[in-house]
Amino acid sequence: MTSGPAFSEEDRRALLALRRDLHRFPELSWQETRTQQALERALAAFGVHDIRRIAETGLVATIPGRTPGAPVIALRGDIDALPITEATGLEFASEHPGIMHACGHDVHASWAVGAARLLALDPAAGEVRVILQPAEEVGAGASAVLASGALDGVAAIFGAHVDRRFAVGEVVAQAGPLAASTDTFSIVLHGAGAHGARPQEAIDPVVGAAELVLALQTIVSRRLDPALPGVVTVGVLRAGNASNVIPERAELGGTIRATTPEARVLLTSELERMAHAVAATHRLRAEVAISDGTPPVVNSVAGAAWAAQAVRELLGEQALVPLGTTNMGGEDFAFYLERMSGCFLRIGAREAGGERIAAHSPRFYPAEEALFIGASVLARCARVASGAP
Ligand SMILES: [Zn+2]
Ligand SMILES: [Zn+2]
Repeated sequence: MTSGPAFSEEDRRALLALRRDLHRFPELSWQETRTQQALERALAAFGVHDIRRIAETGLVATIPGRTPGAPVIALRGDIDALPITEATGLEFASEHPGIMHACGHDVHASWAVGAARLLALDPAAGEVRVILQPAEEVGAGASAVLASGALDGVAAIFGAHVDRRFAVGEVVAQAGPLAASTDTFSIVLHGAGAHGARPQEAIDPVVGAAELVLALQTIVSRRLDPALPGVVTVGVLRAGNASNVIPERAELGGTIRATTPEARVLLTSELERMAHAVAATHRLRAEVAISDGTPPVVNSVAGAAWAAQAVRELLGEQALVPLGTTNMGGEDFAFYLERMSGCFLRIGAREAGGERIAAHSPRFYPAEEALFIGASVLARCARVASGAP
C-alpha cells in the first residue's frame, strides 16, 4: 500500500471553513468571481502557488510531479451553484437570496483544493493540474476549460460528485456509462389554419402533434436496445388559442437522454426521421432543431481501474459499491471523457440514519465527512494514474 499524507487537524479545519464559506456565498454559473478569489486564497494558503485564471471564472493550479516524463493527471472540481432558495436550516446556509449550493459543488471545489494540498505536501509521480471549473450547471464550463488549453497534454482526468444515495465511506468507481447525454429538441409542425367547423379546408397541426407525441414514445420502446436506458420526453406542447379555430402551427419541445454515443445518435436521428414522417402523413411540414447538450459520461476502463485502486488503497475493498441504476441526468465532465481517459466517481454523502435527499432539492446537503474522503480519493487517483505504466 502506498502511503501519502493525511490531513492534519489544522488542514481539516481550514478545508471545512472553506467549504462552509463557499456554501454561505453561492454564485451562479459564470458569476463565480467571489468563489474564484476564495479558492485562489485557499490554494495559496495551502502552499500551492502556480495558479492561473482560466475559462472566465475558473482556475488551474499546477503541482509539479517528482518524476520527469511521468503522465500528467488532472483533477476537476466544479464550483457553481443553482437558482434555488435554500431550505436546509444549516447554520452556514446561503446568504445570497435565491441561490444555493444544492448540487454540492461547494464540496467538489473544496475536494479539489484539499487534493491540491495533499499533492503539494507529497507530489505524485506526474504533474497534477487541479481544475476549478465554472458553469457546470449550464453544461458549458468543461468546454471552456478545454478551449483554454489547460488540459493540453493531460493523460487522464478524475472528478467526482457527492451522492446521498450512498453512505459516507461508499464510493462508486466503475467503467462504462455513469450519466446520460442531455440533448434538447424542438419541433414546429406547419399546417394551414381554418375554421374549426371546416377541417377539410385546413391542414391541422394539432392532430399531427398529438400523433407525433405518441409516435416519439416508440423510439425508446421499439428502436432502442431494451437493455440500454434512454428517454424521449416531450415537455412542451403548444398549439392554438381558440376552441373554434384550427391553428397554423403546433410546437413540441423536449429532452433526449442516452447513455452511449451510439444510442445518442440513434435517438436523435429517429426523432428527426419520425417528425418528418408523421408530419408527411398529415400533409404538414416539420421543422426540427436538435441542440446538443452534454454527451453521456462514460468512464474509461483504465480510468475506472485507477480510481478503484485508489479507493481500495485508501478505504479498503468494501468501500467500492456498484452504481446500481444509471443516472439519467447529465454532467459536463462528459466532455473531458470524450477527449481523454479518466473516471467520474460518486462519493457517498449520506450520514448514518440520514435520508436520501436528491441533489437540486432545496433541502440537499452532503454529510461533511465526505469532504475529507473525496479530497483524499481524488489525490490518490492522481498518484495511482501518474505512477501507472
Ligand atoms: Zn447539479
Ligand atoms: Zn452537480
